[in-house]
Amino acid sequence: MSTPFPERVTEYYAALARRRDPACDPIAAQFVPQPSETDRAPAETDDPLQDHRYAPLDRLVHRYTDRALILTTDRCAVYCRHCFRRHFTERGSGAISEEQLNAILEYLARQPQVTELLLSGGDPLTIEPERFEAILERLYRVNASYIVRVCTRVPVVMPSRVDERLAAALGRREGLWLVTQVNHPRELTPDCAAALRRLQRHGVPVLNQSVLLRGVNDDLETLTALFKGLLQLRVKPYYLFQADLAAGTRHLRVSIEEGLELMRRLRMRVSGPALPVYALDQPGAGGKLNLEIAFHGIEGESYILRDGEGREYRYPRELPSAVYPSSEL
Ligand SMILES: *Cc1c(COP(=O)(O)O)cnc(C)c1O
Ligand code: SF4
Repeated sequence: MSTPFPERVTEYYAALARRRDPACDPIAAQFVPQPSETDRAPAETDDPLQDHRYAPLDRLVHRYTDRALILTTDRCAVYCRHCFRRHFTERGSGAISEEQLNAILEYLARQPQVTELLLSGGDPLTIEPERFEAILERLYRVNASYIVRVCTRVPVVMPSRVDERLAAALGRREGLWLVTQVNHPRELTPDCAAALRRLQRHGVPVLNQSVLLRGVNDDLETLTALFKGLLQLRVKPYYLFQADLAAGTRHLRVSIEEGLELMRRLRMRVSGPALPVYALDQPGAGGKLNLEIAFHGIEGESYILRDGEGREYRYPRELPSAVYPSSEL
């Protein structure tokens, strides 16, 4: 990556860190840049999910027949150090333009098999609320029964932004879900809980996608507290993502062997609804791979993975580059 991924954090989120040292605080690790971000590990790329390959239009990723993902803005309230979409995030393009939106709407009108839209970015809820509501309105005019997933970290990093008005605007839309990203139980503050409750009170169901991160949540105690805490707030832990091979993120990755071992032990610890799917985004596979099913062993420097149709993938296996102390509650 030629230009470094910028640092940005809300006052609220920064205050959750007990120390501003990414090597020993699970919150700081998510927003304080580390020198190793400028290193590129051999397996890493700028666009690990190959968004470019599946982009029929600017700002649109159409990888699965029935689902399309719209890159609504390149801005976020906090730039997560593990961001896998850093080739797009904060590259200066800002919110989607009217021309880009018009082109996407025309495309969608010609693709009736698309029944589900993911609004991502960047973080869609950093868009000015009136504009965001106008975007929603236009999407639902293409198909009033779209299922829409708004993928946002705003409830976690800037919960005050999820006010009554925004929660009500989201709640008015049929089939709209909010998908957030809580990675550590300390992020489940009273403010965050209040934002989630506002959404739920207005009828918006909330799912969570966590990313498995070295020094943040790579231990059984933390993950147990995280998933139980989410369930208690009526948020379903949906995915636990294997961190993608994004340039400069190696120090944050956990190996797939460790991830599988954590899942095996978690299964004996938490209830069914508290357990997410340990998922990997393998470009070219029919969907995200459930690693507990897809994993078929190790051959040298590759993991052998199989998708639902039996197709085999070799996924790069890395050896740990550094040892960080594990996270604390
Ligand atoms: C993850 C993703 C989806 C949604 O996948 P689910 O498994 O349904 O959550 C859709 N489109 C793209 C491009 C994605 O990366
Ligand atoms: S909020 Fe999402 S898109 Fe933005 S930096 Fe974090 S992971 Fe990346």
